[in-house]
Amino acid sequence: MVEKLPLSKRLPKRHTWTEAAFRVRVQEWARTIGVQPTQVHLRAMRRKWASCSSRGRLTFDTGLLARERGFGDFVIVHELLHLRVPNHGKLFKSLLSVYVPGWERWRLKKA
Ligand SMILES: [Zn+2]
Repeated sequence: MVEKLPLSKRLPKRHTWTEAAFRVRVQEWARTIGVQPTQVHLRAMRRKWASCSSRGRLTFDTGLLARERGFGDFVIVHELLHLRVPNHGKLFKSLLSVYVPGWERWRLKKA
């Protein structure tokens, strides 16, 4: 279970993201993975850290900006990989392991 950290427990700025840095990171990962999202949105989300539409529109929770960058990479790569692999099967998990080793410690759902 991954919950939002209370303000007092948030990480120092250099470990977190600005929105601009986050968006750049999405584009870097998209190039690496070889996909191109049609749109990238950031907004407050309640149940999940991100989602992906069948048309390639990605939405990320603004709460990610206050989390460590490793977690952000996990969420970004997870959603971008869905533009290539629409499920969570073996191929999906092995690609995720290539790009984000140790991703198993994280969850995309919040509760
Ligand atoms: Zn997924």
